[in-house]
Amino acid sequence: MSLQQNIQAIRVHIPPHVRLVCVSKFHPNEIVLEAYNCGERIFGESKVQEMCDKHETLPVDIFWHFIGHLQTNKIKYIVPFVDLIHGVDSYKLLVEIDKQAQKVGKIVDCLLQIHIAREETKFGFSAEELIDTLEQEAWKDLKNIRICGLMGMATYTDNREQIRAEFHGLKTLFDQLKTAYFSSEPAFCELSMGMSDDYQIAVEEGSTLVRIGSSIFGHRNY
Ligand SMILES: *Cc1c(COP(=O)(O)O)cnc(C)c1O
Repeated sequence: MSLQQNIQAIRVHIPPHVRLVCVSKFHPNEIVLEAYNCGERIFGESKVQEMCDKHETLPVDIFWHFIGHLQTNKIKYIVPFVDLIHGVDSYKLLVEIDKQAQKVGKIVDCLLQIHIAREETKFGFSAEELIDTLEQEAWKDLKNIRICGLMGMATYTDNREQIRAEFHGLKTLFDQLKTAYFSSEPAFCELSMGMSDDYQIAVEEGSTLVRIGSSIFGHRNY
């Protein structure tokens, strides 16, 4: 199938209120442009250097989403142009993003990453850690970040019911936090969950942003 057919095949399953993040990491500019020419405007990258290089050379109306694990010393490179940071996994990182955002006079949209998978390797807050952090209220002083919702990655498994339960749990936490801490914040409305192998389940469970790479661009050569 062509890249255009890949995108069309995915778009059929994505309702209009769900946004598609085309995960272009490790793919060269020509391929990203192909997706751009199919009408796609949101691209996701997981390495700071790669995202900066692509941002410099690709069309200016692309919305760049950072979906990787962000190191504090590299935040400054992406803050000036990033549209959404999906994987904020510590309070310290949030403070640091706020600091860099303040320097350039910007408010940076962030999603808090929650650890929902059984694997130890995935990053993120536990629900308890996040609730502790939100209870502290110090985050309310961070005026240059906007918490727009949550992000999570399900366990890498063939067990569809387990994946569904993990996404369902994330949606439940999202609703709980919305009521408890963000009821007067319309910006808290995003739930980033779902990748190539599980986005249909994620959409059924309430995702608003799916992050799809290999089903669009094929396999990555690391
Ligand atoms: C690479 C990556 C994706 C895309 O994964 P595919 O399985 O290729 O769709 C989505 N989310 C994150 C956080 C990633 O690192």
